Amino acid sequence: MIDFRSDTVTRPCSKMRDAMAQAEVGDDVYGDDPTVNELEQWSAKRHGFEAALFCSSGTQANLLALMAHCERGDEYLCGQQAHNYKFEGGGAAVLGSIQPQPIENEKDGTISLTKLEQAIKPDDSHFARTTLVSIENTINGKVLPLSYLAELRTFVNKHQLSLHLDGARVYNAATALDVDITEIAQHFDTMSVCLSKGLGAPIGSLLLGPTDLIVKARRWRKVLGGGMRQAGILCAAAKIALTQNVDKLKIDHENAQYLAHQLNSIAGFDVNVEQVSTNMVFVKVDKSIDIYAAATALKAQDIIISPSEHMRLVTHLDISKTDIDSFITALKAVLI
Ligand SMILES: *Cc1c(COP(=O)(O)O)cnc(C)c1O
Repeated sequence: MIDFRSDTVTRPCSKMRDAMAQAEVGDDVYGDDPTVNELEQWSAKRHGFEAALFCSSGTQANLLALMAHCERGDEYLCGQQAHNYKFEGGGAAVLGSIQPQPIENEKDGTISLTKLEQAIKPDDSHFARTTLVSIENTINGKVLPLSYLAELRTFVNKHQLSLHLDGARVYNAATALDVDITEIAQHFDTMSVCLSKGLGAPIGSLLLGPTDLIVKARRWRKVLGGGMRQAGILCAAAKIALTQNVDKLKIDHENAQYLAHQLNSIAGFDVNVEQVSTNMVFVKVDKSIDIYAAATALKAQDIIISPSEHMRLVTHLDISKTDIDSFITALKAVLI
């Protein structure tokens, strides 16, 4: 199977499965799971935060961050394209009584500081209380410049707001910039990290932040049904993801470049290669091509894509350069 739909499709490698089988476990709701405790302590230190919480998903980690930062009637400013606005079922509003204030993202994925400033509500009972700014990095495969993060930090300090990073793919950003993860993390009060995407763990995300907020988030995690018991089995895999798979993201990025170039060699497929900076390739498919029929034909050969006129292909641990060659050959054949 060669699956380009997402980097979430990776399967745990044998090393991970061995670590999971061997993991020492306990009841994490009692705080008794040594593997969970070790991962949380190690992760907090590794990313430069006081504390960490192992969560069932990125959606949960983001929701817990919002619920830790914001009280009922507060609002968070975020991008119109933000995952934690657009793709998380409205959880902040539904479950947190927190109002989102989305702002159109700029082309490079940033949110203009001028637009953010205009969106901050005055202290007046007509308005929700603006409490938090939440951004995403990478956003749709784009890496936010470090200089922007520094400016945003200064901005939130000036306005006494807090700053959250949806860092589902923040390791892809650090890899693309060739900096340590702390160079990005240092600007944020809280940060979520997906372990089950490019890093290859089967399940889980981290929420990182100051101790008081993580204590609050831990309480909300239990309320939301996210108190897990022998979760050390998952944390054993997570530790391998964070210690052994980070370096491999570079290969995913190189493969995405290679894939972009190969796709551009096919008539009717157009990739802006300059915009491929991490593991995502966005392809414009000409109307003359029936990409839906092509996807069906590819599926019969165990190659999976999400067909669309603006198609996203994602590289990951389970896609090699040879797999990309196989895909391109098969694609050319089904287009004839
Ligand atoms: C995938 C993703 C999430 C949510 O993660 P799940 O584990 O699928 O809930 C959050 N933010 C971004 C940017 C993501 O890509």
